[in-house]
Order: sequence, then C-alpha cells, then structure tokens
Amino acid sequence: MELIFERSKQGRMGITVPGKEVPSGKGIDPKYKRKSDAKLPSVSEPEVVRHFTNLSKRNFSVDSNFYPLGSCTMKYNPKITEKIAGFDQFTSLHPLAPQLLKGASLTQGALEVINNLEKQLCEITGMDAFTMQPMAGAHGELTGVMLIAAYHRHNKDKRKFVLIPDSGHGTNPASAAIAGYEVITVPSGKEGDMDINEVKKLLTRDVAAVMLTCPNTLGIFNPRIKEIADLAHEVGALMYYDGANLNAILGKARPADLGFDVVHLNLHKTFATPHGGGGPGAGPVGVKKKLAAFLPTSRVVKKEDGSYALNYDEPLSIGYISPFYGNFLVLVKAYAYILLLGKEGLIEASENAVLNANYLKAKLKDHYDIPFEKGCLHEFVISASRQSEHGVRALDIAKALIDRDIHPPTIYFPLIVKEAMMVEPTETESKETLDNFIKIMTELALLAEKQPEVFKNFPQKAPVSRVDEVKAAKDMDIACL
Ligand SMILES: *Cc1c(COP(=O)(O)O)cnc(C)c1O
Repeated sequence: MELIFERSKQGRMGITVPGKEVPSGKGIDPKYKRKSDAKLPSVSEPEVVRHFTNLSKRNFSVDSNFYPLGSCTMKYNPKITEKIAGFDQFTSLHPLAPQLLKGASLTQGALEVINNLEKQLCEITGMDAFTMQPMAGAHGELTGVMLIAAYHRHNKDKRKFVLIPDSGHGTNPASAAIAGYEVITVPSGKEGDMDINEVKKLLTRDVAAVMLTCPNTLGIFNPRIKEIADLAHEVGALMYYDGANLNAILGKARPADLGFDVVHLNLHKTFATPHGGGGPGAGPVGVKKKLAAFLPTSRVVKKEDGSYALNYDEPLSIGYISPFYGNFLVLVKAYAYILLLGKEGLIEASENAVLNANYLKAKLKDHYDIPFEKGCLHEFVISASRQSEHGVRALDIAKALIDRDIHPPTIYFPLIVKEAMMVEPTETESKETLDNFIKIMTELALLAEKQPEVFKNFPQKAPVSRVDEVKAAKDMDIACL
C-alpha cells in the first residue's frame, strides 16, 4: 500500500490512504458550513510560553514539594522514562499505521513493548494474561467486572451481587454497579481489615465476586485473605484485586498466589507515570487462564517466526474497552521503569514505601489519634479527632500544611474513620523530608491546642487563599475557578 503525505490548506501534514475516501466537505449542506473563520486566538510564542509557565508555577507538584496524598501514590518518577516515552518512534506512530509498508515493519517495536510488558505484569502479579486497553484504574475495574460478568454468563450462571468492604475506594462500588451488579458492603473488623466472619455470612451462590484492595485503604494487609478467597471460590464467586496499592507488596506477594482471579494495576501509581489532575493513566487488567478468552480484542500475539501481530479472532471477547491499545505512552513508561529497576529495584521500592510509612506512623502517634494500631504497609490513616475537640478539623490542618509547602494528605477518606487523614509518603522521599513533615505536623498539633482560632485563616500565602466553601458550593462560577 502506498501512502501519500500531503499538506492541507491550513498547513497541517496529513496522510491519505489511496482508495479510502477522504471527506472533502463537498456533500455538507451549506447551512451547516461556517460563514466566517473560527475565532481562534492569535498569540505570539512568548505569550503562549508565559501563559503556561505562569500556570505551571501555580501548580503544586511532586517535582516541587512533598506530596503524601494517601491512596494516590504521588511518588517522584524518574525523568528517563519520560524521555524514552518521548522518542519519536513512539510518539509519531499512528494507531492505524499498517503493520507492513513495502515489506518493512512499522509497528513491530510497539507491539513488542506491549507484549513484553504483558509478560512482565504476568510475572509480577502471577496472572496468565493481561489487556493493556483500560486507561485508568477505575476503567480497569469496570473492564474487570465486565470480564467476571462475561465469565458467569458463559457458564449460564446468574449472579447478582458483588461484595466490597466498607473501606473500599469509591470507584469499586461504582464499577460493580455500572457493570450491572448490586453491591453489598462488608463491614471492617476491629483490626481495620475485612472481617472474614462477615464475609462468611454474606457469601452465597448469588455472589459474582468479592472485590477488594489488599493492603486496603488503611494500609492494612488482611492476613486471612487466602481463606476469604477459598471461601469465595467454594460458592463459585471470583476474587477481584484492586491493584492500586500494589506498590506495598511488589515483589513480595502476588495477587494470583493470594487467590485472586482478576487484577487491575494503576501504572500511573506504581510504575512511573506522573499523575494528578485527571491523567493520562493506564489500568491494565490481568486474569487467570479461565477468564483470558473474554479479554478485550484485539490482542497482541507473538507468532512462531518471532514477529508480533494483532489477533482479532476472539469470539468470546467483551469487545473494545478503549480505542486502539490504551494509553500507549504510559505503557512505554511502565515498561522502561520495570527494566530500569529490575526485580531487586522493584522489591526495594516496596520495602522503602513500607518503611517510610511505618516511620511516619510511629512518629505521629503521640500527637494524633491512630484508629488502627496494627502495623501498616505503604500508607496509614490518622485522625484529627483530638484536634477537632478544639475546633480544628482535618480540613484546617490540610490548609495549614499548604502554607508550609506540603501537599495535604488525603482527608475524610476512608469514610469509616472520623476526621481521617490518610498519609502515603512513598518510597522516593528522604529521611530529611519525612522528619520535616513530622516536625510540622507536631507543631500544628500543638498550635491546635493553644491557638485553634488561627486555623480558620489558613492558607495565607499567595496564590491560594481560603475558599468560602459555602459560597463555592452554592455558586458554580466560584466552584469552577
Ligand atoms: C486510585 C485508586 C483507584 C482508582 O484509580 P484511577 O486510576 O484513579 O481511576 C481505585 N482504587 C484505589 C484503592 C485507588 O487508590
């Protein structure tokens, strides 16, 4: 096939594939056509650069400050992975590019990256196959629950419910509900993990899956998870692993060995894609063999001659879950990161994440209530309930931290802890950074006792000031600012 490169009237380069109709606009009813040119802003390069540079300076980012936002894994990601994902060979590749052009391969390298990453993720999680299509954790959850539904449907097994612990991330029940299931919430036990006795009571042949993250959003690993999985399997239910917290157990335990059948990973949390502000991310989904036939089409396969191809012959597939192959450049970053760190490096990353969290938890416990004493993994939750007796809430402490150049921890989540502050230091922070956080949190606890009234005015430093929350809730214009 011959491709013709041509410049459009606006000066953009385009590719024309001979034989394919390119819309000329000729057939469009004149009433839908523009009468005058679109009013596109006309600005000079310095104006554009200043605009975006000034906006970037208002950002609070991992590149500028400590960012212990629990559940989100806001770790520093090596810039080399950005550089690799920026290679022209990756960024210029069009998803519709033919696999072969005049006998030369255009896409083999990209397909190899996808295939190799799939193998790496299988090894890391113990799963048998992965799809790279989902573009976020929540998107992966929806895909995973759709796979579970397809599996039960295929077995002519009607099931209605998904069990989710009350500490679950909000996206879990949302995904299960969108995929057509009713959600049953399982209460947490005294130790902060999902109570096996409660699970026993709720597990029936109507349960399609048990969906949870382990360690959970309190940073607590459920020591009876294997027993829970066995009980679920006994009644024909599947186990779904929300892998957003995988950085806590990377190289130490594999979801498949813990009894899980489906897992999503958040590549943007665990494997080196900076995130926040909505993406881009990637939420690949891994499954055990019995679910592999249902994975989204197409699948990258390695042929006998060692070359790669796309396989569309997947009669049981749930179909496309996103256009083309997901957020490909996020996949490239994860692949580069895994190669960069290697097995030992990944294990060390999770060990440091856990060590840092336990260090902070131990140092903060004199000044803040710790609702669950048990040792944590990569994150933990403290409560500002002691401070709230003086009128200083978790929200006020969060605002005070902004003034002290620290991003606040996640607050008011998980919902089961009053005045929750969920701290995740990540593996990339130094002891000095952690000690500075401890010092500031201790000062704020003392200030809350002595001068609680000052907290209502935080933050004071430009460019942020305290938002009038009542007005913000009532007045959309302000809320959107
Ligand atoms: C972040 C997170 C999700 C959702 O992932 P997104 O990539 O933000 O859609 C799901 N579960 C847990 C536990 C999370 O921390």
